Amino acid sequence: MRVTFLGTGSAMPAHDRAQTGLLVESGDRSLLVDCGSGVLSRLAGTETGYEGVGTVLLTHHHLDHVSDLLPLLKARWLAGETHLEVVGPVGTKRHLDDLLDVYEYMQNRVDLQIREVPAGSFDVGGFAVEAMEVRHSVDCLAYRFAGDGDNDGDFVFSGDSEAFEGLANFADGAAVLAHDCSFPEDVDVSGHPTPSKLGAALSGRDIGRVYLTHLYPHTEGRHEEMLESIARGYDGDVRFARDGLRIDI
Ligand SMILES: [Zn+2]
Ligand SMILES: [Zn+2]
Repeated sequence: MRVTFLGTGSAMPAHDRAQTGLLVESGDRSLLVDCGSGVLSRLAGTETGYEGVGTVLLTHHHLDHVSDLLPLLKARWLAGETHLEVVGPVGTKRHLDDLLDVYEYMQNRVDLQIREVPAGSFDVGGFAVEAMEVRHSVDCLAYRFAGDGDNDGDFVFSGDSEAFEGLANFADGAAVLAHDCSFPEDVDVSGHPTPSKLGAALSGRDIGRVYLTHLYPHTEGRHEEMLESIARGYDGDVRFARDGLRIDI
């Protein structure tokens, strides 16, 4: 499995951090996870391109995770691609219907399939996926993508969430975990973790590598201290993700 971080930013994007988006690929299968502002351009810069991704999996419906959805739909239509599947938590159908009500000229341009998924196990774009509800200001799902063969590990994406034991358990044993780490320690926030709470939640878990993502501009220049805060609770391999980073799992 190959994971490309298309966007590692947040609702306050930076020039080098688009909003949230991840490209998950294996063999000839590809899946876009979240589609925030700037992600479509980043996707166009990959070999796969927006022509090559027929399925989008959403963690939740906040703007920084969905705002490039209709632009993706239009780009695929112009490129002659005739279908798009959008999969996400309860409310995804209504969300897409409402968007298409506003942009009437986009209706019926491509064969748009919408599927709402609960927590649990299901297939998306040929990937075996497990979902769990996380702790955010709106309904949000974390996803665990099963590795292909015996030698391939799993990939887990937290979505937007506070750090908590249940999510750490969900990620336990994975080869790679990409976790929301929106702010440095001194920012008072709910619905996202602080570095020390993330470190405490991950304590004792067996995870190959953790990538921090969903980074607000507040985190710039403070990476070292954030890693130190995490390391007080968790002694595993933790790194900052960056746009364009590609990892083979
Ligand atoms: Zn959010
Ligand atoms: Zn977000």
